[in-house]
Amino acid sequence: MKQPYLLLTPGPLSTTPTVKEAMQIDYCTWDSDYRSVTETIRSQILTMAQANPETYTTVLLQGSGSYGVEATVGTAVPREGAVLMIAINGAYGHRISEIAEYYQIPHVDVVFNEDEAVDPQRIAAALAEHPEVTHFATIHSETTTGVLNPIEALMPMMRERGIITIIDAMSSMGGVPINVDDLDCDYIISSANKCVQGVPGFAYIIAKKTTLAQTAENARSLCLDLYDQWQAMTKQPGKWRFTSPTHVVHAFAQALIELNAEGGVDARYQRYHANQQLLSTGMQGLGFDLVIDPAIQGPIITSFAYPSANFDFAGFYEFIKARGFVIYPGKVSTIPSFRIGTIGDVETTDIQRLLAIIGDYQQLNR
Ligand SMILES: *Cc1c(COP(=O)(O)O)cnc(C)c1O
Repeated sequence: MKQPYLLLTPGPLSTTPTVKEAMQIDYCTWDSDYRSVTETIRSQILTMAQANPETYTTVLLQGSGSYGVEATVGTAVPREGAVLMIAINGAYGHRISEIAEYYQIPHVDVVFNEDEAVDPQRIAAALAEHPEVTHFATIHSETTTGVLNPIEALMPMMRERGIITIIDAMSSMGGVPINVDDLDCDYIISSANKCVQGVPGFAYIIAKKTTLAQTAENARSLCLDLYDQWQAMTKQPGKWRFTSPTHVVHAFAQALIELNAEGGVDARYQRYHANQQLLSTGMQGLGFDLVIDPAIQGPIITSFAYPSANFDFAGFYEFIKARGFVIYPGKVSTIPSFRIGTIGDVETTDIQRLLAIIGDYQQLNR
């Protein structure tokens, strides 16, 4: 089937025809064939994230990425005697704060501007001011803007203080090299429809076994009980509690095969990075300024400022969509901007084609 457009959005994203094909069968779930697919995925995720299987486990959870974040926060943080610090520099950081509110978790929000990265020095100062903090959460790739936060600098600060760490690496895992063993974090979260290039339907959480083992009965939600999901998947290897998204699981297994065939996370990062660079340079040449300093810009998504106060984003969007690409509105509250993603089954020639279309738009709207 011909696709009407290529998604230049940060998840869902454009997947390969073979990933879509993997969904054409109605699979059964109760037998060992299916459970071995689940087990393979769980172990390949650890390899992808450079997490030692002795130390870490992968838990798969039905739902979108936010379900994975909520399950992790709601299971990791005990009902009593815990304080969560959240480093926030965009909408996804604020979402963790919102989750903490729902769960009535005492939380200290350290808020940065959306066009800055989380600053470890400010976090150190906040920790000194709040010795009561027991848990810490932040975002790796803040999809609001495309900023990449310095988790490598933040994690040792937490380890030193015995603070349990939660990283939302939703839009970076699989597309930006991450070494979980080196990070030594407790929980790191992503979902099927981001850089592994599967389709939406489940989240995955890499958790340190010794930490997760201490969370029995912490959860305030049955469906989002990460501990229980882990126990079910471990006692009967590969078994999901409750109905799993079978088509999505098979598509994801295929997507992991294709990630390896591409050369793994490093190779995929190189492709995303090259496309992001081409896009960034090309767009600036067409008169669109960057919102984010290239020093903190990641390869996932790029924000561009409107070229003029009366810029017609709706018209611009429709012009591009009619010619085969879907882009994303902006999310930086203070700067009128839009975003273009560079993840998914997207090649350099696609970015070149996009730049030509935007060039045409600029010509016509001079
Ligand atoms: C995509 C994303 C999420 C999850 O969003 P869902 O809509 O629930 O899939 C969370 N955090 C970040 C940084 C993301 O990019």
